[in-house]
Amino acid sequence: MASSNALINQLNLNLPSPEEPIFPDWKSAEDYALWVKRDDLIHTTISGNKWRKLSHALEEIINAGVKDVVSFGGGYSNHLHALGYCCQQLSLSLTAIVRGDYSASPTPMLKDLAQWGAMIQFVTKQEYKKRSDTEYLAQLKRLHPDAMIVPEGGSQASAMPGLKCLIEELHQNYDYILCPVASGGTMAGLISATGEAKLDTKVLGIAVLKGQGYLEDLVNQLLPQNQQHGNWQIHHDFRFGGYGKSTQELLIFCKNFGKEHLPIEPVYSGKLFWGAKQLIEQQYFPKGSKILLLHTGGLQGDRQV
Ligand SMILES: *Cc1c(COP(=O)(O)O)cnc(C)c1O
Repeated sequence: MASSNALINQLNLNLPSPEEPIFPDWKSAEDYALWVKRDDLIHTTISGNKWRKLSHALEEIINAGVKDVVSFGGGYSNHLHALGYCCQQLSLSLTAIVRGDYSASPTPMLKDLAQWGAMIQFVTKQEYKKRSDTEYLAQLKRLHPDAMIVPEGGSQASAMPGLKCLIEELHQNYDYILCPVASGGTMAGLISATGEAKLDTKVLGIAVLKGQGYLEDLVNQLLPQNQQHGNWQIHHDFRFGGYGKSTQELLIFCKNFGKEHLPIEPVYSGKLFWGAKQLIEQQYFPKGSKILLLHTGGLQGDRQV
């Protein structure tokens, strides 16, 4: 698509992202072909899967001549960070509805948003819970009549085509593709795209928060009708207690993996790679499987200042 290429050039994105083999010293790793799709390298700010999920929506916004965007996220949100940067670059105005009051001590992410000219609105956790309610959204629409409202994480139907682009970039077929799961859009996009391309690939999600059943519902709701029975599964054993939670063991794992291979952080990619290591050591996959780990980016969330 021509307009998509124009946007990629304008934002200076490194696409297609690299697809690299890794050779970790995990038990049984030599029984598999392990690859990483380096979406963390797409851009330093427009974090991996957030570009994939926003690309089509941004095109729609630009083509429709929309100038205002409203979206949601937590104080460290990679989604708001990516969207805030895109809005600044594309001369769009962003209203960011943020869960909790950080006005006394803004996070590095929020400082960036403010610098890029976003209007930041802190809301209570109770109000934030209403972010997908029809009535709440109607009220927001009245307050911002000309705005495009983008759901949390950018996970919406228009996120699917961006993941299709990712699948089209791949140089080879995989038996498994693994990704982290939070709001489900990335996983739904991968299931939908591999299904559409008639690939014999199983998509495995690693849950990064507590949500057995809930996360499966989120993914299902985003899948097109004809992809509802796709070949996929979410693993819930590697969430380390919940969103943003970790242990000393996970932190050390991330640090060492970063030294030996590539940078990962404990909120998303750390849990993904940890989960992959456990599944490989348990010989969960048939011997000889080709496995792709999707590095979804998100390294900004790990900054201390
Ligand atoms: C947002 C995010 C995810 C979660 O993706 P969903 O589509 O919300 O499930 C994974 N990794 C990173 C780095 C993210 O920023």
